[in-house]
Amino acid sequence: MNLEPLSYYTNGILQKDRNVLSKSITLIESNADTHQATANQLIEFCIQQNKKAKKIGISGSPGVGKSTFINSLGKHILDNNKSIAVLAIDPSSTISRGSILGDKTRMGDLIHHKNIYIRPSANGDYLGGVARKTYETSLICEAFGFDYIIVETVGVGQSEIEVRNIVDIFLLLLLPNAGDELQGIKRGIMELANIIIINKADNEHLTKAKISMTQIKSILPLMNQQQRNWETKIVLASALENTGIKNIYNLISNYYLSVHENELRINQQEYWKNKIIQDLVLSKIKSHPKIKKVLEDLSIKQQNIYTNYEAIAKLIDEIILD
Ligand code: GDP
Repeated sequence: MNLEPLSYYTNGILQKDRNVLSKSITLIESNADTHQATANQLIEFCIQQNKKAKKIGISGSPGVGKSTFINSLGKHILDNNKSIAVLAIDPSSTISRGSILGDKTRMGDLIHHKNIYIRPSANGDYLGGVARKTYETSLICEAFGFDYIIVETVGVGQSEIEVRNIVDIFLLLLLPNAGDELQGIKRGIMELANIIIINKADNEHLTKAKISMTQIKSILPLMNQQQRNWETKIVLASALENTGIKNIYNLISNYYLSVHENELRINQQEYWKNKIIQDLVLSKIKSHPKIKKVLEDLSIKQQNIYTNYEAIAKLIDEIILD
């Protein structure tokens, strides 16, 4: 990509130029050394704009209906004259696949709306890196003036924890499979959720959905609640038939009334700053010529001689005793 002067990006964002928005996100996603200074200044500029978007994380296993749900909830938000940016954090997400393959049918109501912006997954060397880039992308979208930022992630475990740290509210979608689904979903993930949604509560799935809801309600008191002033809600919905969506929209609004947005924001920034430091330390260590050599030696010898523990201990000694 061509690096433009900082003012190109900042002016474009202030003027709500979508083209510049996309280029700004590409800039902050870039790992090129020559882009870092401008990217950092741009993020700083965005933070200073002091705009406030509602950041919603949405998670669930593939096929649970995340894209369909984002479509329904998105329509509701747009009907209320608010704008939305949708970001995907996992490369396997329907949004990313959709963007790559041009198959966006499940978000068909949103694609062409002027108040929505859909951006597929950020690149990162590791999941925490993706979360960091997604957070930075959300800061740009926030400065651009979006009212809502939806971050989609797939229900595999670690990615939920990463996403939970960069959004205000976390929605978990479950299938109406009663016990089966509960066994598959780790309790830890349910504990992250502020609203648990049994999706596909329609037609032949409705009875199962109701059983699932009762089961989850019965185990909820055993779970740790993440948020003060807010008890996890469990609701039924059909993203396809657009039922229960208005209720969820209202619950999200209630949630914001019950929490301190500034507190959430400070926690997100703390998490993000720690990620930056981790990234920096890791990349400095990995690119140090001595360490590179040690890593190469270890990878040759490791199989026969070293256990993992010894290999790591040796590496740490190399760094500290230098
Ligand atoms: P994702 O992989 O979680 O994003 O799931 P999708 O949104 O792509 O949906 C997967 C499949 O489930 C599609 O065939 C949808 O039409 C279907 N689906 C999504 N939501 C509902 C729902 O509320 N009810 C029913 N019956 N099907 C749904």
